[in-house]
Amino acid sequence: MFKSKTPKIFASKYATLCYSSAPSIVEATQFSHYLDPRFYLYELIKCKTPNQVKQVHAQITTNGLLKNQIVANKLLYIYCMHKSLDDSYALFCGLSEKNAVSWSVMIGGYAKNGDFINSLRIFRDYLRSGDRPDNYTLPFVIRVCRDTMDLKMGRLIHNVVYKCGLDSDDFVVAALVDMYSKCKVIGDAYQLFDKMPKRDLVTWTVMIGACTECGDPDEALSLFDRMREEGVVPDKVALVNVVNACAKIGAMHKAKVVHEYIARSKFSLDVILGTAMVDMYAKCGSVDVAREVFDGLREKNVITWSAMIGAYGYHGQGRNAIDMFPTMLRSRILPNKITFVSLLYACSHSGLVEEGKRLFNSMQKEYGVKPDIKHFTCMVDLLGRAGKIDESLQLIESMSVAKDEGIWGALLGACRIHGHVELAEKAAKSLIELQPQNPGHYVLLSNIYAKAGKWEDVAKIRELMSHQKLKKIPGWTWIEVDNKIHRFSVGDHTHPRSKEIYEKLNYMLKELEIAGYVPDTNFVLHDVDEELKLGNLFSHSEKLAIAFGLISTPEQSTIRIMKNLRVCGDCHTFCKFVSQVTSRVIVVRDANRFHHFKEGACSCGDYW
Ligand code: ZN
Ligand code: ZN
Repeated sequence: MFKSKTPKIFASKYATLCYSSAPSIVEATQFSHYLDPRFYLYELIKCKTPNQVKQVHAQITTNGLLKNQIVANKLLYIYCMHKSLDDSYALFCGLSEKNAVSWSVMIGGYAKNGDFINSLRIFRDYLRSGDRPDNYTLPFVIRVCRDTMDLKMGRLIHNVVYKCGLDSDDFVVAALVDMYSKCKVIGDAYQLFDKMPKRDLVTWTVMIGACTECGDPDEALSLFDRMREEGVVPDKVALVNVVNACAKIGAMHKAKVVHEYIARSKFSLDVILGTAMVDMYAKCGSVDVAREVFDGLREKNVITWSAMIGAYGYHGQGRNAIDMFPTMLRSRILPNKITFVSLLYACSHSGLVEEGKRLFNSMQKEYGVKPDIKHFTCMVDLLGRAGKIDESLQLIESMSVAKDEGIWGALLGACRIHGHVELAEKAAKSLIELQPQNPGHYVLLSNIYAKAGKWEDVAKIRELMSHQKLKKIPGWTWIEVDNKIHRFSVGDHTHPRSKEIYEKLNYMLKELEIAGYVPDTNFVLHDVDEELKLGNLFSHSEKLAIAFGLISTPEQSTIRIMKNLRVCGDCHTFCKFVSQVTSRVIVVRDANRFHHFKEGACSCGDYW
């Protein structure tokens, strides 16, 4: 009653006054809480603005409670929370005594407000003060390094961890694993992770997520198995990571196992997990199951819808993708940038030129979504595929946004198919200018020259490539057989059934040649530079994986393979013939899209 009428600061002063001038017993009990530290902790939590914090700060000072370390640290913390870092720092500097919590709050306060420089500066001061950081402070600083991706500083702090003897502390090591993972030094993260005597759910999730992110989804999935063997129950975040790993590797069987696990554990498919599952099934090659999951979801947001539209696009079912759009609008979901990328991608991969143009023209006018570089790229691709090279060049030239490698790549792809050597040269040169270290661009340009019979230029490009010592991107193809992932590289002889695989391959080649298959030597120089180096068209990883699929799966069953790079033209033709000769459906997921081979034809219409 008293508090509500009088501003707090006066109330406090009044309280002190009353108290010092011989209060009655009643008054004393009424005001004594102003001297109770817990009262201020509570008052601080209630503060909604920095000014309110200042008022409570004044009361605390007046009542001499700043000496109470818990109160002082709370005040520091609340200032940080309200982004009043100057006030926080002034208070921090004035503290007669600082403990580990005070240091941590200040370090974490700067970090959380994005001021990483000051955060690390305070940490340095902390080390200089002679105090030893504990398992409370260190994770804070390690997280700063994670958020700034400052690996160098991260390693220095790792040294401090050793010096402080905290290298087997669960919290600290978990933070280090997280930091190394985010900095993409998976090896270091894994080493620490493996040595941890006890790993909690968060650490497992971090490690699984890191493996998925860094291109080792296979490892992510085996970690998931190990985690469950050790009795750690995954939560939704962990499951989303696992589902994403399945999507990345395109492993249908694993996807089903994970789905069953989710169903058995009675996890409700919320919008995040549900959307990840839609994406997973689409990327594992089954757009129909993706649709089933999609239809079964109680809650769908714009990302869910975009994922489903994208799924149809990947599988070359552009019409289905476009048909979803009005249904989405009727469900009162407004499209965003991603939706339009999915739609335009679907149009371009299904040759729906008019529909694509209409969508592109309506996106800003009708839905307020400004086209960005990705949308322009889809349009260039769409027009280029349809042979409207001039129109796509016009579009590129009219763009106000900066051109990136994606858009030149789209134009180049179109030029290559339609045999525009000069424009292709221009596009390839722009690409090389933008990304001089990407070997793929050089290979593309040299392919164009080769196709046009410009052998001198081919030689020049090759020389340029060896001169630049370009980093090779290894090509891999995966196939899942009997719940196991088998991985092949070009000319691979490491598989236990290698002998049979090569025998089958040789036998197949003879059969295919009778059916009319002519190896395409144009692809001696194809996108996959490592395969190019070995120059062995017949042992491309795709062919090895398919041969293995043929000998290890039942007749008539679908063969699904995944390639990390783009499938080469010769392997594409090879797949068509295999599907014809063996009456098998072959589903190939490459870096760009899905190819469904059936009875000698591919769903991509030979344009990819
Ligand atoms: Zn190939
Ligand atoms: Zn295809």
